[in-house]
Amino acid sequence: MDNATLKELKERLLFLKKEIRSRIEENSKKVNIQERGDVGDYSDAIYTKDIIYDLLEKDRKRLQEVEESLYRIENGSYGKCARCGKEIELERMKAKPTAKYCIECRKIVESGL
Ligand SMILES: [Zn+2]
Repeated sequence: MDNATLKELKERLLFLKKEIRSRIEENSKKVNIQERGDVGDYSDAIYTKDIIYDLLEKDRKRLQEVEESLYRIENGSYGKCARCGKEIELERMKAKPTAKYCIECRKIVESGL
């Protein structure tokens, strides 16, 4: 991967990190408000809370992936498949900057072999 692309992807990852972090903060606040019982319609609050919890969980996972990718940039392993060590297709990295595996390995990892 050339330096310009690496820089571009790093910037995207840093942006994502900020975005996810502020969303987690915001959703955590919402959950706290609902736990204090400030919401008028009880059943509706529970319903929303489930959705927010789900979002929080997904965002925490995403944040972890982003941080892992940034760490991989620092130690020079970014853009290489964590399983076979081959360079991951550039198009794939651009579509998903947190990609850790090449397409072939992803299939294998996902099928649990
Ligand atoms: Zn691979």
